[in-house]
Amino acid sequence: MDSSDALLLRKIPYRDSDFILSLFTKDLGKISGIARNAKNSIRRFGARLEPFVLFTVSFKDTGRDFKLIQDTETVQVFSSFMENIELFSLGNLLLETTDALTPRESPNEEMFEILTQALTEMNSKQSPLPIVLEFQLRALSISGYEPNLHSCAKCEKPIEGDSYFSINGGGAICFDCGGEKKRGFIFNKDFIQDHSLMETELEKVLKYIKLFTKFTERHTEKELKSARFIEELKL
Ligand SMILES: [Zn+2]
Repeated sequence: MDSSDALLLRKIPYRDSDFILSLFTKDLGKISGIARNAKNSIRRFGARLEPFVLFTVSFKDTGRDFKLIQDTETVQVFSSFMENIELFSLGNLLLETTDALTPRESPNEEMFEILTQALTEMNSKQSPLPIVLEFQLRALSISGYEPNLHSCAKCEKPIEGDSYFSINGGGAICFDCGGEKKRGFIFNKDFIQDHSLMETELEKVLKYIKLFTKFTERHTEKELKSARFIEELKL
């Protein structure tokens, strides 16, 4: 039997009382598992098979796609996410982003660390938006989808300060190349690398979060369910 720290990404009811789970684990990356009789087994699963609970999971390999989930033990409950619908949706965005960016059973301890760190910080009532944006950028970068911020995606000229941003082009576009869309989103690569500046301009941070949510959907070709809520979010 194996065990690892884990967070729940998705849970689908199966048969009468089972759950099919997608978990992001520290040691194995994303795994799928079946929790038999989970709806009735308080001792083995309690209220731990929920998002925003860090738990240790014990499981058995079955030789198939699904591991057999044996037991879980709570490590930490991130309770703030249950008290605030905006925080809940932002937290879901982190979980869905992780899900979209990571292949199954490909260990990625760094991704696990930045995810649990971001959830811990958001749970402690720090201003969540800069944490979400920083998570998006790091998660994209460590999973091979890093946006190109330092040179124009068309002419490769170095970008200084402001630019346009092309989701399809994968990054910054200089004003010469992007000339036709004069009213486009003005992107600034220095802003998104300056945490204290972000703290003072949360509305702007939210615009970048919306941009990188679309970027993630476009480049992984996966739909993030929380994207619609994030799109409508206002400060
Ligand atoms: Zn250019």
